[in-house]
Amino acid sequence: MNQNSSKGFLIALSTIRAWLVIVAAVWLLGAIGLGWLVKSFFALIGIILLAPVAIFVGVRWWIQRNLVQGQCPVCASPLAGLNKTQMRCPNCNEPIKVEHKHFSRLTPPGTIDVQAVEVGARTLEE
Ligand SMILES: [Zn+2]
Repeated sequence: MNQNSSKGFLIALSTIRAWLVIVAAVWLLGAIGLGWLVKSFFALIGIILLAPVAIFVGVRWWIQRNLVQGQCPVCASPLAGLNKTQMRCPNCNEPIKVEHKHFSRLTPPGTIDVQAVEVGARTLEE
């Protein structure tokens, strides 16, 4: 799956490169003096065609950076989620936190004990 998505990314990159060459060629023609009308017309078409590709590549890049795939820490079923988000495991309904590209339980075991010790220490100080 990773290989396929990186192949798609490369294809998108080559598409952008092709359009950059076209835009550069149009600019060159304009610089030579073939007319600002032709240049702006092709530049406009280039921007219109390039914008969805740029958005598509940007979204893909963002998802690749933020998509985390792993296992549920409770029931070990496969999970996929976005980084720095909270979700529920579809299998065991456990609240899951996605952090540092890892899945962890939202309330890990032992948290309540640690908090109880801290409250006790504060009470003693006062
Ligand atoms: Zn689970």
